[in-house]
Amino acid sequence: MTGTAIRAYAPGRVNLIGEHTDYNLGFALPIALPMGTTVDYRPADPGVDDDRLVATSTAEPDTCVIDRDTRPGDVGGWGAYVAGCAWALREAGHRIRGGTLHVDSTVPVGAGLSSSAALECAVLLALTADARPDRHEIARLARRAENDYVGAPTGLLDQLSSLYGDVDTALLIDFRSLAVAPIPCELDHQVRLLVIDSRSAHQHVAGEYAERKASCERAAAELGVDSLREASSDAWESLPQGPIRSRARHILTENARVLDAAGALRDRDFTALGVAMDASHRSMRDDFEISTPQIDRIVDAAKDLGALGARMTGGGFGGSVVVFADAASASAITDRLPDTIVDAGFTRPQVREIRPGRGATVGSAPTVDSGDVEQHN
Ligand code: ADP
Ligand code: MG
Repeated sequence: MTGTAIRAYAPGRVNLIGEHTDYNLGFALPIALPMGTTVDYRPADPGVDDDRLVATSTAEPDTCVIDRDTRPGDVGGWGAYVAGCAWALREAGHRIRGGTLHVDSTVPVGAGLSSSAALECAVLLALTADARPDRHEIARLARRAENDYVGAPTGLLDQLSSLYGDVDTALLIDFRSLAVAPIPCELDHQVRLLVIDSRSAHQHVAGEYAERKASCERAAAELGVDSLREASSDAWESLPQGPIRSRARHILTENARVLDAAGALRDRDFTALGVAMDASHRSMRDDFEISTPQIDRIVDAAKDLGALGARMTGGGFGGSVVVFADAASASAITDRLPDTIVDAGFTRPQVREIRPGRGATVGSAPTVDSGDVEQHN
C-alpha cells in the first residue's frame, strides 16, 4: 500500500483479574475496551528524501519530530511512545518510511486503561502495514518501546489485550507460553460490567512499579527459580516474614485466582468470578500494596451497593476499578457511587458501563468520498 494513507486502530484494555503477573510469567484475564486509539499514517511520497516522522495528537499541543536514527532519550513526553515504536522497529530491522502520523483517541489517559499500549500498537500497526509482522511480534516491539525508550518497566499484558481482544470476549493469557485463549464474555440484563475511573493518578508509579518487579525477582531468586511461575503455589510460605514474602504470596495466589476466574467465566458463574475478584483486590491492597485509600473506598462502595465483584485494575496507585454487577446494582453504583466518594473527600470518579470491544485493526485510511475503512485483522 505504498503511497496510500493508512489507518490503524488499537483499543485500550481493562484487566478483569491478574495484576503484575505478566512480568512474572503468570496468568491474566483482560478484555479489550470499546474505546481505542486511531492513528492515520501518511507516508511521504516516493522520491521525497525525508525519512523523519512528524507526529501530532488531538490530545496534545506539541508536534513531535522523530529523526530516522532516534535513540532513547532523544524524545520525551508523549512523543516518546511514538519515537520508541520507530526506534524498536528499526532496531529489529524493519524499514520505515518518513511521513506524518496523526493520533486520535477515546481512551482516558493515565486511568489504568492502557492508553499507552493503545497508542503503541496503533502506531506499530500503521508503520508496518506493508510487512504485517505477526501480532506477538508487534506486542514485543511495543513492550520494547515502552520499557527501553519511554522507561516504563511494564509486561506484555496491555499490548496482547489490545492486539488480540474481541467483541464479547475475554482473553486468558499465559505469559510463559504467550498463549492467548478467548473466553466468551457476553453481558446481558443479568450481568453488567462497569469501569470506574478514579480520576486520580499517583506521581511515582514508575518507581513503585520497578520496586515491585525487583521484589518479585528477589523472591524468585530466594526460592531458587527463574521466575515465580516456576514456584509451587504455596512456596511463599517458606520465605521469611516481610515484604518479599507478601509480594510472592500476591503473585502466586493471583495466578490461581485468574485460573479460577477463567473457569467461572466459562461457566457463566459470575458469583464465583466476583469472589475471585474481591480476593484479588484484598491481595493487591494488603500483600502487593499497590492500592490507594480512594481506590479502596470505591471498591468498598461498589460492594456496599451490591457488586458481585470489584477490584482495582491496572498497575495500581490510582487508575480504575472494574466491577461486575447485576443490572439493579449496576444502576445503583452508576447513580450513587460518585457522590459517596465525593462525600468521603475524594475526587469524583467516572463510572462507565462497557462491554468487551474489538481488537486492533489496520487498513487504508478512508478517502473523502468513502466513509468506511477497509480493515484487515
Ligand atoms: P495509561 O496507559 O494507563 O493510560 P500511561 O501513563 O501508561 O497511562 O500512559 C499515558 C501516556 O501515554 C500519556 O501521558 C501520553 O504520554 C501517552 N498517550 C496516551 N494516549 C495518547 C494520545 N491519544 N495522544 C498522545 N499521547 C498519548
Ligand atoms: Mg500504560
